[in-house]
Amino acid sequence: MEDILPPRSKTMRRLEEIARELLALYGYDEIILPVMEQAELYLRSIGEETDIVQKEMFILEDRAGRKLALRPEATAGVARAFVEHGMDRGGLPVKLFYVGPMFRHERPQAGRYRQFHQLGVELIGPASPEADAETILLALHILKRADIPVELRLNTVGDASCRPSYLRELLGFLRKRGEQLCGECQRRIERNPLRVLDCKEPRCREILKEAPLIHDSLCAECRAHWEELLDVLRQQGVEPLIDPLLVRGLDYYTRTVFELVSPNLGAQNAVAAGGRYDYLIEEMGGKRTPAVGFSLGMERALLLMGDRDDIREGVYVVAQSETARRQALNLAMELRKRGLRAEVDVMRRSLKAQMREADRRNFQYAVILGEEELAGGYLTLKDMAEGVQRTTSWDGLLSGNFEAME
Ligand code: ATP
Ligand code: MG
Repeated sequence: MEDILPPRSKTMRRLEEIARELLALYGYDEIILPVMEQAELYLRSIGEETDIVQKEMFILEDRAGRKLALRPEATAGVARAFVEHGMDRGGLPVKLFYVGPMFRHERPQAGRYRQFHQLGVELIGPASPEADAETILLALHILKRADIPVELRLNTVGDASCRPSYLRELLGFLRKRGEQLCGECQRRIERNPLRVLDCKEPRCREILKEAPLIHDSLCAECRAHWEELLDVLRQQGVEPLIDPLLVRGLDYYTRTVFELVSPNLGAQNAVAAGGRYDYLIEEMGGKRTPAVGFSLGMERALLLMGDRDDIREGVYVVAQSETARRQALNLAMELRKRGLRAEVDVMRRSLKAQMREADRRNFQYAVILGEEELAGGYLTLKDMAEGVQRTTSWDGLLSGNFEAME
């Protein structure tokens, strides 16, 4: 579990702000969920044979002996809350987003942590391909605003009417070729055959080139949904990389699945991932309600964002004497009340050291309050980038018009 220190923490908040701004424009409201749920919830929704449930959950017992899990993802929690609070009462769609920590007990490596943060979106209600498209466009929009270039990998995994027969076909193929697959895949054949498609082992990938593809078994409805989705995306100028082997690590997906991958990340290259989950709400005990969503891994995104510590901003108030320190604090407080970044030395350092600090901390201005300034009732203002100095009055400074000052 990682500590996120400044300036990374600031960059993470910046990413969150970018997302929040866009989420408001697209009409999403925040849902704030507990970080723990009954472990059962994840078994039922994510699927018993998935990596997450098999080996990645942090499970703990409460005093009553109930099994709780630190949330490995939030879609299950959103679906639970949606049903529990009858959130469809006000009509559909219900558009929700969440942001916060998730927990998975996996092998830590670059871009993979045991506590990490996701920002996710759930669009609950629509069955239309436009809804899938809009969800994908929103994810792309957020990453674009954050200057993170990604590619869209897209696939369909069918639905309850066409997937079962495809799975039988796939299973037949995998059983025949099983011995040539890696150990992990051999185990998966009987338990979760779809996941074999996703294996990154070169020898598995070789064999999978001959595997039957869901695209050849789609029912008419799933095919029409897929074609329309491609159409809408292309109309919006998005050309997806169609990857017929893309499946996701959670059982609840139907039809559309996608990943936004960065060419600039190594093995952990998926910055965001999502898809459609038309049966989940029903499985949680609600009415059949189609839905689509995605989740963005904030740490992964952060690997592709620089920290912005080079922007000069605000006023550092430098005090030359003990009397001046009190005045300096007054001035800093006044500037803050006016919404300006302002700091004052609390280390009781020399004038020179304070000036260095103003520079090191990237202030745009230093205001010097010395004996002369106190006696004369004026201030010395130094532009830290330009290095030029001029005198000004308290009123001038507090009116905030730095440029016109003399
Ligand atoms: P991966 O294939 O990378 O394990 P996943 O299929 O487990 O991903 P999801 O459950 O779809 O991922 O989670 C959505 C996003 O959350 C991922 O695309 C990734 O950016 C991020 N993510 C998932 N697991 C971790 C982790 N352990 N540490 C950091 N980020 C993660
Ligand atoms: Mg994973």
